[in-house]
Amino acid sequence: MKDCIFCKIIKNQIPCEIVYEDDKVIGFKDISPQAPVHIVIIPKEHFDNLNCIKEEQEEILGHIFIVAKKIAQALDIAESGYRVVTNCGEQGGQSVEHIHFHLLGGRMLQWPPG
Ligand code: AMP
Ligand code: ZN
Repeated sequence: MKDCIFCKIIKNQIPCEIVYEDDKVIGFKDISPQAPVHIVIIPKEHFDNLNCIKEEQEEILGHIFIVAKKIAQALDIAESGYRVVTNCGEQGGQSVEHIHFHLLGGRMLQWPPG
C-alpha cells in the first residue's frame, strides 16, 4: 500500500525504533506513547483492520499475540501485567489503516478504556 505509513515503516522509508522483527511481523515503539511501555505490533502484510482478516488468515493473529508476550517478557512487564489491544474502525478509535496491536504496560491501566 503506497501511502500507508506502517507499510513505509516496514520498508524502512520512515525511521522508527524497532524492538522486534521476524518474517511476518514487526514491533516498534509508538511515537506518542500512552504508557511507559507502548509498542505497536503489525503484520508485514497490509490489512486495513481486523474486519479484513479472513478465517483462513487467523494464524497471523495468534502469531501476533505470541510476539506480544515475547516482547512483554523482553521489556520486563510480563509479571506486572500489560494489555494488548487493536482499535478497529472509527468508533474503535483507529487512526492508522494498517492493522496493528498496541502492547501497553509499565503502569496501572484503567478499565474500561475511554
Ligand atoms: P490507532 O490510533 O489505534 O490507529 O493507533 C495508531 C498508533 O500509531 C498511534 O498510537 C500513533 O501514535 C502511532 N503512530 C503513528 N505514526 C507512527 C510512527 N511514525 N511511528 C510510531 N508510531 C506511530
Ligand atoms: Zn500498510
